[in-house]
Amino acid sequence: MTQQDCIFCKIGRGDIPAEKLFDDGTAFAINDLNPKAPTHILVIPHAHVEALTQASDDQRAAAAHCMAVAPQIAEAAGVATRGYRLIANQGPESGQEVPHFHLHILGGRAMGGMG
Ligand code: AMP
Ligand code: ZN
Repeated sequence: MTQQDCIFCKIGRGDIPAEKLFDDGTAFAINDLNPKAPTHILVIPHAHVEALTQASDDQRAAAAHCMAVAPQIAEAAGVATRGYRLIANQGPESGQEVPHFHLHILGGRAMGGMG
């Protein structure tokens, strides 16, 4: 997967239009196309970060930045008080579909156990 083909790179560059709920130049947030909860937001670094295991220090910093800005995005979405779940899938057994690092913010319903 190259940055040219990557769906999240295309959205980040504006090649594919999407409503950005947040964008500080390092990371942006969009609503998930196929939401698993009433609030389902993806926080995505502009940098094309694939597997964290192989990532450079700069790429890991970009991924970590997503965690740093997630609370304010959750707050703006109105789920901070009730609580929300942050998920980052990594690799085949996690069920990761898009090989560009992203953090899921899930909220608006009780999540139950991790199963
Ligand atoms: P993951 O399984 O962790 O890789 O999550 C990928 C997520 O991206 C899934 O929840 C998809 O519904 C979501 N997704 C895929 N394409 C788009 C898109 N064009 N816009 C918004 N969300 C998307
Ligand atoms: Zn990408």
